[in-house]
Amino acid sequence: MPDFKSNTKEVDVLIIGAGPSATVAASILHKKGYTVHIVEKQKFPRFVIGESLLPRCMENFQKANLIETIESHGFQKKFGAMFAKADEYCDFEFANQFTEGWGWTWQVQRADFDKVLAEEVQNRGVTLEYETEVTDVKFENDGSSTTTVKNKDSEYYIKARYIVDSSGYGKVLPRLLNLEKPSNLPPRTSIFCHVKPRQVSESPERKRIIIIVHLDNVWGWVIPFSDGTSSIGMVGDSEEMDNIKGSMEEQMRHWIANVQALRDRFTDSEFIFEPRKIAGYSSDVKQLHGKGYVLTGNASGFLDPIFSSGVTLATESSALAAELIEKELEGEPVDWDLSYTEHIKKGNAVFKAFIEAWYRGDLQKIFFSENRNEKIRKQICSVLAGYVWDQNNPFVTKPERILANLSQVIR
Ligand SMILES: Cc1cc2nc3c(=O)[nH]c(=O)nc-3n(C[C@H](O)[C@H](O)[C@H](O)COP(=O)(O)OP(=O)(O)OC[C@H]3O[C@@H](n4cnc5c(N)ncnc54)[C@H](O)[C@@H]3O)c2cc1C
Repeated sequence: MPDFKSNTKEVDVLIIGAGPSATVAASILHKKGYTVHIVEKQKFPRFVIGESLLPRCMENFQKANLIETIESHGFQKKFGAMFAKADEYCDFEFANQFTEGWGWTWQVQRADFDKVLAEEVQNRGVTLEYETEVTDVKFENDGSSTTTVKNKDSEYYIKARYIVDSSGYGKVLPRLLNLEKPSNLPPRTSIFCHVKPRQVSESPERKRIIIIVHLDNVWGWVIPFSDGTSSIGMVGDSEEMDNIKGSMEEQMRHWIANVQALRDRFTDSEFIFEPRKIAGYSSDVKQLHGKGYVLTGNASGFLDPIFSSGVTLATESSALAAELIEKELEGEPVDWDLSYTEHIKKGNAVFKAFIEAWYRGDLQKIFFSENRNEKIRKQICSVLAGYVWDQNNPFVTKPERILANLSQVIR
């Protein structure tokens, strides 16, 4: 246990933030016998967007031994994803995919989900302090560090052999170490909220996530939860989204009235909280690691919400980082560029190719084409399930070329 009595605490690994990226790393490192301490700026439960998971992230929750914990909380199971354009539908079943892997995952209210994971790692012995913020970090030549943290009562120091920055949109180390780099994706804006429909349907199709094509550069989502409420949101070029004026509630009601799939289900529905807006969320960094630290999850950059890749990349990076930290703390040599950066960049590149093809309109053409090839659908389905490291899938090995060619053929 770290010594919490003095003004300086000593731990093996300090983790910044308590989102899923953090708790997956914490669970793996704690199990290996290291002292792990998490500092979290907010008080849980706290809202964060990112509610639709991908089957691939189940492998990371498995490595962290967290599946049973999540399962026991009754979150909505997710078996596929449906894309809708007016009256046309394109449905993907994860069980029917090209890559061997998980055929399902969950749709989760992140306030509950992240709290469940944080409490579980605390029960296992990880120490966690809420409402405590990292304000400064100093590294020694050997990679060990002293971090200044502040809570409402005091300021104190944490000496650590390693730091995992899982601070999400807080981007603590990228800011302190000047590692931020602008994303080369255009600025986009999203408005979203949780709604309680007047009538709750129990039909399985109504429990499926729907991604709605509205305009070429504007799309929306419906993510139903197990308690009958749903998350709804719209995303588009910031310019387009800023054209809609009024209060947050008026803007959200505008989208419900004008987007068929929302109008059908959510006219007159009750908003559970005032709709929120987030803009310019795509981000990048100059490097993913340095001596004594690693960036995981959104702290290492974020692409775009269209394919729900956020939590999958967040847990993939933190599970891998935890394994590599263990090696390094055991004195084994680790080539972080090769074993970490390259792996994370490969996965990101596949999602990025799909994201760009989506906003170009190519993927929509492919999804809604009458000429649907079953093998191609399965290969695409695997990418949508998050299996973006399968070197047997041509949509993973050469995504840009194959998506562009396919959309040309359909044209
Ligand atoms: C519009 C939109 C929709 C999205 N939809 C999806 C989706 O459907 N599925 C999906 O997988 N992803 C989605 N995402 C992405 C998702 O939000 C993130 O990828 C995911 O939450 C990243 O998890 P994380 O653990 O890295 O960070 P987070 O979950 O953000 O956790 C980081 C934590 O760090 C804490 N923190 C910040 N600063 C400090 C500090 N100084 N000191 C201490 N703690 C600090 C924060 O309080 C926070 O609790 C979406 C993103 C957007 C913008």
